[in-house]
Amino acid sequence: MKQACSDALTEWSLLPVSPDWSGGLAETWEPGEAGAQSRLEDFLDGPAEDYGTGRDIPGVEGTSRLSPHLRFGEISPFRVWHELRRHFPRETTPDVGIFRSELGWREFCWQLLYANPQLATRNYRPDFDRFEWQQPTAAELEAWEQGRTGYPLVDAGMRQLWQTGWMHNRVRMAAASFLVKNLLADWRLGEAWFWDTLVDADAASNPANWQWVAGSGADASPYFRIFNPVTQSKKFDADGRYLREFIPELAHMDRRAIHEPWKQPDVQGYPAPVVGLPESRERALATYQRLREDRQSQDNVSGPEISG
Ligand SMILES: Cc1cc2nc3c(=O)[nH]c(=O)nc-3n(C[C@H](O)[C@H](O)[C@H](O)COP(=O)(O)OP(=O)(O)OC[C@H]3O[C@@H](n4cnc5c(N)ncnc54)[C@H](O)[C@@H]3O)c2cc1C
Repeated sequence: MKQACSDALTEWSLLPVSPDWSGGLAETWEPGEAGAQSRLEDFLDGPAEDYGTGRDIPGVEGTSRLSPHLRFGEISPFRVWHELRRHFPRETTPDVGIFRSELGWREFCWQLLYANPQLATRNYRPDFDRFEWQQPTAAELEAWEQGRTGYPLVDAGMRQLWQTGWMHNRVRMAAASFLVKNLLADWRLGEAWFWDTLVDADAASNPANWQWVAGSGADASPYFRIFNPVTQSKKFDADGRYLREFIPELAHMDRRAIHEPWKQPDVQGYPAPVVGLPESRERALATYQRLREDRQSQDNVSGPEISG
């Protein structure tokens, strides 16, 4: 049999090793079919049974973390589906059904991409072409990318992404909402950053979810749904465990203070909020309202729709 010809990574002397930016990735993942299979087994024997609750808590391993393995075809969704059925033959637990529906979302994203090959670059809903996105300043964008926005949940998520190549789903939603709503940045900027940094960066799931958050997608979250990173943090990381893991500057804070560090007198080395939540929320809602009015006036110009 002919052997595939390739370089060994050690021959690539140009890859930086000091500091070793890829250390967190190597610690977190075992790429390949064996790694995928053992992830699945760990999930079935552990978190699967409480998936409905556990999947929302970023401080615990409540999800399967199969996404990079699915992304690279190291395990197929069919296999996951059938092993789940074998493990839980009676289907008595609703949590298993919730997990299955997540696999269904993945398929849905692929269906969307199939029908809309430009999903990563074009608004699924063309009226969003008139949305008045604001170009974030270089400092704002960098703060978001580096996990220095001053909002602990967003920052912990962005740092988890940088260190491990993965971010918890609930935090992805909060971090993405912060970029497109509080900073009013075009969702394509966020999609591109996730594309470059996620180990599960997927041609379908990434743009479909970004468009879902932005409100421009199919079956999208309504634009006026703006995740409040503080409320989300208090609700889903009540004891601050996730925040402490990724933001060492805040590790000394108690479970109450850690969600709003700017209210504390002596916070060293952690930035003040890059933007205020109430005013940035109002700005986003006003921008959306202008889009709605614009849409309505276009509808009036083109006349009522005739059905028949
Ligand atoms: C802004 C944003 C960008 C995202 N980008 C990606 C991406 O590039 N690649 C990716 O695989 N997922 C993406 N997701 C979806 C979701 O966050 C991840 O699939 C999930 O966090 C992966 O972790 P897990 O394997 O532990 O998921 P589990 O909760 O264990 O779910 C099992 C599997 O279901 C699928 N799944 C779960 N949620 C979704 C979803 N919302 N959409 C599509 N499939 C889903 C994934 O294949 C996942 O591995 C994104 C979500 C958001 C909000």
